Formats: sequence, structure tokens, C-alpha cells
Amino acid sequence: MSSGNDVLMPTLGSAMPSYDPNNIFAKILRGELPAHKVYEDERTFAFLDIMPRAPGHTLVIPKASARTILDIATDDLVPLIKTTQKVARAAVKVFGGDGLTIQQFNEPAGGQVVFHLHVHVIPRQNGVALKPAGSAMADSGVLSEQALRLAAALQS
Ligand code: 5GP
Repeated sequence: MSSGNDVLMPTLGSAMPSYDPNNIFAKILRGELPAHKVYEDERTFAFLDIMPRAPGHTLVIPKASARTILDIATDDLVPLIKTTQKVARAAVKVFGGDGLTIQQFNEPAGGQVVFHLHVHVIPRQNGVALKPAGSAMADSGVLSEQALRLAAALQS
């Protein structure tokens, strides 16, 4: 029977570390840490990045315990991409974006810092550069208000 992975999983370098269930996003999924939730369904969860690179910067994650794009089962990857598109459409609507940047990093060499697979959805405006990653924590009140607007757009 298929595991949902259609191809043999490649490894990065000699040894790709296994999934750590104590990573920050796993704790958010278990409700052990707070998050500004934007969307949730059976297989995915989306919430605002605490250090946004632009207003509306959202992270979309699978509920499955995947570390990177390499170890997620196809059956969990497809809903992740579908939710990414839903969030992207809502983000453009709410933030009136001229464009959108989608980012996804794998392993430290690829720029990954939190080791639960996630997709960044970042609304963009003409002529406005992204803030550097990890530069400043956003105000919690501002994030709450943005999350409510995005959640409402996702329901409409
Ligand atoms: P990456 O692993 O793709 O480089 O980025 C991880 C992202 O997670 C960063 O954009 C960072 O701002 C965000 N981040 C790190 N810790 C937290 C947290 O506790 N809550 C939220 N909402 N975002 C976080």
C-alpha cells in the first residue's frame, strides 16, 4: 500500500536530522504556545509570522510532523499547497497587494530556522523591499487585528 510518498525520499548531505516534536511550530499546533491564527482545517494551519517581513506575512504549516519538503507525504503536501493558495488569495484581498512572495526554506543551509515544514506567504507592494528576516517582533495588537481580517476574508 502507498504511504503517500510517490518517490524515494532523498537525503541532504549524509544525514538529515529527524523531526523534533519540540520545535516551536509543533508547540503552536498542540496549543502549548500562542499564535495569531488565520486559518485551520483537518490537515493544515496558518498563522501570522511574529517577525513579519511585510504586513500580512503568514506561515502555512501541515499538521503532519514533517521537517522539510523532503519528508512530507504527498497526501499532506497537496493540502498544504491548497491552503497556501487560499491564504495567498486572502492576503492579496486584505492587504491590497501588488504582488506576493512565497518562500519555503529547507535545512540550515537552505535558510530554515524552525524545523517544522512551513510556507511563507508575504503580500508585496510595488517599490517596498522586504524587511530583513527576524528583524523586529510585531505588536501583538496589530497582529490580532490583521489575523481577524485575514480569517474573515478566508471565510468569504
Ligand atoms: P524559516 O525557518 O523559514 O527561516 O523562518 C521561520 C519563521 O518563523 C521566521 O519568519 C520567524 O519570524 C518565524 N517565527 C519564529 N518563531 C516564531 C514564533 O514563536 N511564532 C511565530 N508566529 N513565528 C515565529
